[in-house]
Amino acid sequence: MLDMSLAQRYEDVKRAVEKACVRVGRNPGEVVLVAVSKTVDSAAVHEAILAGAGDFGENRSEELLTKAAAFPDKTWHFIGNIQSRKIKDIVGTADLIHSVDRTSLFDPMQRRAAELGIKQRILLEVNVSGEETKSGFAPDEVRYALQVVSNCENLVVCGLMTMAPQGALSRARETFRGLRELRDILMEEFGDTMDLQELSMGMSEDFETAIEEGATIVRVGRSIFSEENADIYRR
Ligand SMILES: *Cc1c(COP(=O)(O)O)cnc(C)c1O
Repeated sequence: MLDMSLAQRYEDVKRAVEKACVRVGRNPGEVVLVAVSKTVDSAAVHEAILAGAGDFGENRSEELLTKAAAFPDKTWHFIGNIQSRKIKDIVGTADLIHSVDRTSLFDPMQRRAAELGIKQRILLEVNVSGEETKSGFAPDEVRYALQVVSNCENLVVCGLMTMAPQGALSRARETFRGLRELRDILMEEFGDTMDLQELSMGMSEDFETAIEEGATIVRVGRSIFSEENADIYRR
């Protein structure tokens, strides 16, 4: 049975994405809405597909494997902590891995991608706000990380990802702007060999702000999948 409220919430988020784009003169086609399905089952994913969703985000490898196998023609994003022993499952299953947060992941990821004969698309996660609880490269470590990963033939860095501090939208905005500015600087240096165009930033509470600051990918879970939080973004 079609869950109309999920369809309605998806539609509302989609419209909020478009409105945010229009506000800053961006083309809504530039922004990918990733439906973060980490807390829901495959039935809910199916409902979201019926509502029009094509991109999904998972933060556990087991869930990623199950759901990607159930819906192989959809685009799967891995957004969670990457445990080394799960690399063999995540690489090749996720179309884009957002949460690459340490250089020690490069070698095993490269080996797995080569074994599968694929080019794995990844983003580097950056801890822009500097909060101790957040993972990710420090902003001044990203240049070195890009130098290291440029030796990995089967890993394609497509851009950067960050998580904003919770609370005031003004702090979130500073974080998003910081990621974009860092990307712009790195593009001057690495632009000949890499295309760092993707900026994965913004969740239920702050995706509109993220779009205003240049997000190309927003990761929205609760506003789509949870009834209690359906009105988070409605103003
Ligand atoms: C859970 C999660 C999201 C989605 O968060 P919501 O607040 O549910 O929209 C986005 N990104 C990451 C990395 C997450 O873990």
